[in-house]
Amino acid sequence: MFMPSNFLDLHIVDFCQLDCKHCYLNKGNRVMPLDMLRTICEDFLSTNFPLPRSELILSGGEPLLHPKFVEACNIVSKQK
Ligand code: SF4
Repeated sequence: MFMPSNFLDLHIVDFCQLDCKHCYLNKGNRVMPLDMLRTICEDFLSTNFPLPRSELILSGGEPLLHPKFVEACNIVSKQK
């Protein structure tokens, strides 16, 4: 799997269907609202920090369990 050197890891949910022993996550039932996701992405990409080729990553928990995952993907893919 390709991992960019500069990225923002967006934990859009804090829950997951698995129960890995090594899991670091403090699980709950929180879902990142789409407006918050959009604002965070825009703020991150508009900074003047020297972060060439920055990428946005949807993470969690299991990001596919976000109830509006497709919309979240659309927001991230329209950035830059
Ligand atoms: S969040 Fe990752 S490490 Fe934790 S249970 Fe889910 S898959 Fe496993």
